[in-house]
Amino acid sequence: MKSQNGFEVDYQTAYRSIKDLEEEKNEAVLKSYSKFQSYFEWNIVNNPGTHADIQLNGSELRQSYLCLNICAKVFSLSLPIIALDGCHVKNGSNYTLLTATGINSNSEIYPIAIGLVFGECQETWTYFIKHLDMSLSLRENVDLVILSDREKGLALSVESVLPKCHHSFCLYHIGKNIKTKFRSNYNRDIFKAARATTIDGFKSAMDLIEAKDSRVFDYLNQIPKENWAEAYFGKCRYGNLTSNIAEAMNSSLLKIRNLHPFELVYEFVNSTYDNFKKKFATYKDMSDLFPPYFKKKILPMIEESRHLRVLYTDDNDIYRVSKDNSSSIFKIVDIKKRTCTCTFMQHNGFPCSHMMTCIFLRGERLEDHIENHFKLANLKLAYSTCFKFCDIELLETKTMEPMIKIRKRGRPKKKRVRSEAEKIFHCTT
Ligand SMILES: [Zn+2]
Repeated sequence: MKSQNGFEVDYQTAYRSIKDLEEEKNEAVLKSYSKFQSYFEWNIVNNPGTHADIQLNGSELRQSYLCLNICAKVFSLSLPIIALDGCHVKNGSNYTLLTATGINSNSEIYPIAIGLVFGECQETWTYFIKHLDMSLSLRENVDLVILSDREKGLALSVESVLPKCHHSFCLYHIGKNIKTKFRSNYNRDIFKAARATTIDGFKSAMDLIEAKDSRVFDYLNQIPKENWAEAYFGKCRYGNLTSNIAEAMNSSLLKIRNLHPFELVYEFVNSTYDNFKKKFATYKDMSDLFPPYFKKKILPMIEESRHLRVLYTDDNDIYRVSKDNSSSIFKIVDIKKRTCTCTFMQHNGFPCSHMMTCIFLRGERLEDHIENHFKLANLKLAYSTCFKFCDIELLETKTMEPMIKIRKRGRPKKKRVRSEAEKIFHCTT
């Protein structure tokens, strides 16, 4: 100690200093639990549409859940996609932070809900997903896509609580597992099989994998095809074949993951509110059909569509589209079914350049073929919800028993060996 810092500290002083620091930390934890319930109740009353839950196990905080009204509103007007993930909270309290993340039409991620639980397992995920369902009425939503890293407890919970949703397992995690298990990278082949929109296309991609390594083929066959392969998936994933949006959310929460539970939740609300306020300020004065990032994506496609030719149409809905009149290479567009053999529409949820050519030929407007959750009007509305901010200094705290007992200064009384002179017997008079 002396050689490192230039001063000498005896063992007793160092021990007491460490214990004092621990006490301060425990006091902060205790203070944070006492505010939790009051803070949640305040938000439920003052921000209608907010859903929060706190559960105690005796004197301990067992689990909690929070979905703010502003987050629920953005979800209701955005893509029907939720990425679920869990990460360890780095505050020494052994909690796991569960997150539900969404993505808006401008390709920006946003938080939908957070939960604090003890570990990731079927029980804790079921708790979180049940509350998510209560917040957003997901049970009957047949368009809903859940993205996850295929954690076992999570998969079973999604299946039991949201049986009608479409659960997509992250392809990056599947590829990573295969790389670890078989020491080979098959990501390109796996993505090819996953992107195939027909059963024949999927089978030929899988045949290729089998020819390269039958162990990888067998491993992939153990994973239900309905959870990763486009040909069997049944819903558009809007280009999200991985759970990257959840990973991005975890990274953005990195700073607050070091805080004590209540401070973590409080800072989460602060940052979400600030972030949504900025988004509202950005979008409110825009006057366009589509948000900037989405427009940037479709403009080159609109331009390309002007150079394509419709070779043939057998009725009003099916077209053959090619780059030039003489080309034998063409794509087949079905306007009614909203499909194209280039598979762009099926993967991304909005028309490819081939489909745009057909739409313009029919004299129809492109915006009528694009879902509302891609439009700027939805985005403006999504971020326009009012949110009242809670001053925690004025908040009345609930009395909660300490989860961590605060240690008094000095040695514990029980362990203290009294001297003969101290052994005083009390008697009643
Ligand atoms: Zn196409």
